[in-house]
Amino acid sequence: MTKNYNLFLEDTYKNTYWITIIDSNKAWKNLAIFAITHWNEPVWLQIFDYLVNDFNISKKLKKWKIFLIANNIKAYKKYRKTKDISSYRFLDDNLNRISNKDFKKWSYEFKRLDELKEIFKEIDLAIDLHSVSKWNDIIWLCDKKHLKTAKSFFNVETILIDNMWKTWALIWEFLRNNKEAYWIECWNHISNDGFEKAKENILNFLQKFSSIENVKITNNFNEVYEFAKEIKVKTNNFKFTKDFKWWFNKIKIWEVYSIDWEEELKNNFWKDIFLGIPAKNPIKWDWAGFLFYKN
Ligand SMILES: [Zn+2]
Repeated sequence: MTKNYNLFLEDTYKNTYWITIIDSNKAWKNLAIFAITHWNEPVWLQIFDYLVNDFNISKKLKKWKIFLIANNIKAYKKYRKTKDISSYRFLDDNLNRISNKDFKKWSYEFKRLDELKEIFKEIDLAIDLHSVSKWNDIIWLCDKKHLKTAKSFFNVETILIDNMWKTWALIWEFLRNNKEAYWIECWNHISNDGFEKAKENILNFLQKFSSIENVKITNNFNEVYEFAKEIKVKTNNFKFTKDFKWWFNKIKIWEVYSIDWEEELKNNFWKDIFLGIPAKNPIKWDWAGFLFYKN
């Protein structure tokens, strides 16, 4: 880790930790970029570092105010000590799946989200940044209604669409208030290629909405998939039945795709579906993977 990351580990905004503000001084709208929602995905802190220290974003931004928000630094500090990229992705709960007011209130992630929600009120547009535990497509996720916009500024292999209100994802906090929000999964947690792709896409994103000097958007995508189902792990004896090298493995009708203790999970959708596995070691009560339709 470079010492520069410490900037993002120290900044506060309105008494809330780990928020760095970049102001164009033409701030009629506020844009938020989230990093480290999961503690083992530090590539996006690397992107914060790049934007602030190498790209010099504060000089190049033509409009809006950017909030760089490091979501789960407490968990990240624990990860830095272990350096185990396959370790758990949070302290108590998945920050990207915290449901509502009745959720476990003692959980660190619940409390953190609660304080962030105050800041969210100031945000008009948000993007949440993630990475995965193996070599994959770079994937853009958005609500169905934002697909057309997403197509106009991302350079990714795949776009995933969903009714985000079903997911309890962090960006849902914005969508339910009729704001625009996106989510990106870049390659391996710690890889230089992942960093380069992440950099390109975040500059595209900033150019599209906030306008920055000397950046030309190169946009492209290969496929669009739509979420069909999330696969939850119920026991400690969960496994997928095939060797999954890619995000989108075709599963034929009635084919078994995983076994959870003695329960066989099959494709009962009456058409071919596709399986994606972003986490290397799925753990009980967390999600293990997702099923998709090809759009
Ligand atoms: Zn993540």
